[in-house]
Amino acid sequence: MKVPLLDLQAQYRAIKSEIDPVVAEVFDSQYFILGPRVVEFEKAVAAYCGCAHACGVSSGTDALLMALMAEGIGAGDEVITSPYTFFATAGSIARTGARPVFVDVDPATCNIDPALIAAKITPRTKAIMPVHLYGQSADMDPIVKLAKKHGLVIIEDACQAIGTEYNGRRVGSIGDYGCFSFFPSKNLGGAGDGGLVTTNDSRRAAKLNSLRNHGMEPKYYHKMIGGNFRLDALQAAVLNVKLKHLESWTAARRANAKRYDVLLENSGLLKKGIVSLPAVVRERHIFNQYVIRADRRDDLIAHLKKHDIGCEVYYPVPLHLQECFAHFGHKAGDFPVSEKAALETLALPVYPELTDEQARFVVDTVASFYA
Ligand SMILES: *Cc1c(COP(=O)(O)O)cnc(C)c1O
Repeated sequence: MKVPLLDLQAQYRAIKSEIDPVVAEVFDSQYFILGPRVVEFEKAVAAYCGCAHACGVSSGTDALLMALMAEGIGAGDEVITSPYTFFATAGSIARTGARPVFVDVDPATCNIDPALIAAKITPRTKAIMPVHLYGQSADMDPIVKLAKKHGLVIIEDACQAIGTEYNGRRVGSIGDYGCFSFFPSKNLGGAGDGGLVTTNDSRRAAKLNSLRNHGMEPKYYHKMIGGNFRLDALQAAVLNVKLKHLESWTAARRANAKRYDVLLENSGLLKKGIVSLPAVVRERHIFNQYVIRADRRDDLIAHLKKHDIGCEVYYPVPLHLQECFAHFGHKAGDFPVSEKAALETLALPVYPELTDEQARFVVDTVASFYA
């Protein structure tokens, strides 16, 4: 048996009859940039996330960059974020000229620890960028409280978290901006790169719309410097179809996570303290990744790969220790919870089409490694 980390071909087979006609329609129209498919998609995602506005953009990375640009964040500014995330989170901050100021994560969820944020706020702090890692919301109430108190903007990195909820609200609607990615491996993945920014503020929405098209308003008149951050019609057409399936895919991911929880519990590995389950401290977790912690993790990875089981470490090097950020002067030991997570975490296949038989094989193979 083979168990890939993600099986996008299985997903495509199931919806091919819906996808192919809308792709053909875009080709027939030869209308490729923005347009009615993008507007339709923006309206649908705004409604899905409980937000007033949505702006379709070229990637999740560009969504983050545009939100920072819309706030005029740049050299001399600081933005507080997590060191345990995909590179784009801090990369986008650094690209504006601002400094990413890292705050260590909560060991249970690997999301930014709100209790550690206040100590990092300075007169230069302009924004907080929490990440909803793996599809579980960061603890937003204390973050919103701090932002209000200090006049900071909140930019949610919701790239792994479309449909994730916090106290009944969808993420992306809680801060000032929500940034989403439609990279193919995300829960809602396009046929290439794509992203989107949500906001409830119409003034911010207008600025985002302008920034994604070179700040051009009207044509060939530029009031601000933007870029080419536009979403393709082709991506929007595909994503419109896929969005209709997202709730059922999310339900399947959540069911797969529950199944793993039970199988791992029954394996005896939890009791022995060899493996620990993902901590679900708040619903709704959408399980973009199902991440366990495991003893001798790297040897376990080799064992799983030998048995044709896909798995991945998100992420092996926390951002404060990345070579390109060396000039910020961090060293090993600065963010111990993130550094420990980088050594212990392991994502198992949790994609919606995963079968019961495959899940059993994964857990049996994990158990056989420690037997
Ligand atoms: C995927 C991801 C991004 C970047 O999205 P792209 O669409 O690949 O540019 C940013 N932040 C996080 C946490 C992500 O998982």
